[in-house]
Amino acid sequence: MGIKSDKIWLDGEFVDFADANVHILTHSLHYGLAAFEGIRCYKRDDGRSAVFRLREHVERLRDSCHIGTFPLPWTEDEVIEACLETVRVNKFEDCYIRPLAFLGDGEMGLSAMSNKVRLAIIAWPWGTYLGDDGIKNGIRAKISSFSRHHVNSAMAKGKFTGQYINSILAKREAMADGYQEALMLDTNGFVSEGSGENVFVVYKDKIYTTTYHEAILGGITRDTIITLAKERGYEIVERRMTRDFLYVSDEIFVVGTAAEVTPIREVDRRQIGTGKPGPVTTELQKAYFDVVKGSAEDKHEWLTYV
Ligand code: PMP
Repeated sequence: MGIKSDKIWLDGEFVDFADANVHILTHSLHYGLAAFEGIRCYKRDDGRSAVFRLREHVERLRDSCHIGTFPLPWTEDEVIEACLETVRVNKFEDCYIRPLAFLGDGEMGLSAMSNKVRLAIIAWPWGTYLGDDGIKNGIRAKISSFSRHHVNSAMAKGKFTGQYINSILAKREAMADGYQEALMLDTNGFVSEGSGENVFVVYKDKIYTTTYHEAILGGITRDTIITLAKERGYEIVERRMTRDFLYVSDEIFVVGTAAEVTPIREVDRRQIGTGKPGPVTTELQKAYFDVVKGSAEDKHEWLTYV
């Protein structure tokens, strides 16, 4: 499916979709040091479009650049406004927003200290990432044969393009083997995250998720789900989880901006719970959709109306 929009924000100005090109010597294209975000804008029940947790995404973009030692030459407020303007000029009601900060051309050595930091913001309509059926009935996942990087190898708190090679290999392997998603273990063999999502497990009425201080991206949806679950009286346990804990769990679901809240009905050919989305998953999925696109009150100030 080709992506299409009218205008793309590039280094401070809007250019036509067809003209948003870079030079082949763009440093990030060669070595994979670029930071990006994935953000969703939804049309809510009141008919107005709102971007979900925009400021937190822009803060994480800034943090990624900081970890990657290429500070963003734009303030957070400027990036926020540019994201909103990109949605507006393209007249989108529901869309995905992709800011991408990258090192431009110039030096070709690895350090490339003098190369300009560039920023692109692209928006396009994007439906359910793991499929409408997946959201409703759950997906089949496989424990990947690829490990997540060691915490001192990849900087998992940064959302860097190069780190996604690991995710792509895992995702392609899972799909080639007939699964929809890959769940990844860390270098110690504990569950880290999906190829593009954080993982939650329901076991005997408690909700478990991998500790923030492991090799995982600090997901904004993860944080949202923790908040929504606590408000509904659930106990959240952040800890290391073993692979076989997943097999015996009652429910599993993965969360992310693209994947939203997607139930996992099977892991490595083992049925999870009843094999259908369980009550906790269903309740939290509904709570999530009520906030992002329903009519739930925005009591955490998570929404920025376009
Ligand atoms: N982990 C990985 C590896 C991801 O790519 C994503 C998607 N950005 C997530 C977790 C979930 O993050 P978020 O909820 O902020 O989209």
